[in-house]
Amino acid sequence: MTKSKTEQSSSPKLELNYNQLLDRLYMSLPQKAKESVRYEMPTAISMIQGKQTIWKNFIKCAKDLDRDQNLLYKFVMKEISTSSTIVNNQALVLNGAFDNQKINLILEKFINAFVLCSECKKPDTTIITQHNIKVLKCSACGAISALPKL
Ligand SMILES: [Zn+2]
Repeated sequence: MTKSKTEQSSSPKLELNYNQLLDRLYMSLPQKAKESVRYEMPTAISMIQGKQTIWKNFIKCAKDLDRDQNLLYKFVMKEISTSSTIVNNQALVLNGAFDNQKINLILEKFINAFVLCSECKKPDTTIITQHNIKVLKCSACGAISALPKL
């Protein structure tokens, strides 16, 4: 009887220590885990060929962003007023020489305006129609933000 009593009284202490150890271990982990949740945004692969610029992964960029390719197309056309054609349902061929940095800048602008939530900056968004107006709805924080007109 006495033996079991001592065992019982000592066991909770051990458990507490064990939990404390776990806590300490756990606390050293989360910070890094949280920071590693970064969203990977597509990068435009483009090249200048003569007087044209070929945005090789144009359609893939739109798909990776889960946005309509026509929307991205319209946006690009507004940013660089030039004529262009979509080739092989894959690339966008623009008239004029635009370096890759410029193309990526435009893509970045598009992401900021049409993909990232204006409140929490997360890309978990969808474009919905509300009262006949297209808006950006964030599934992460619930915010609804206006979209720029194209
Ligand atoms: Zn949000």
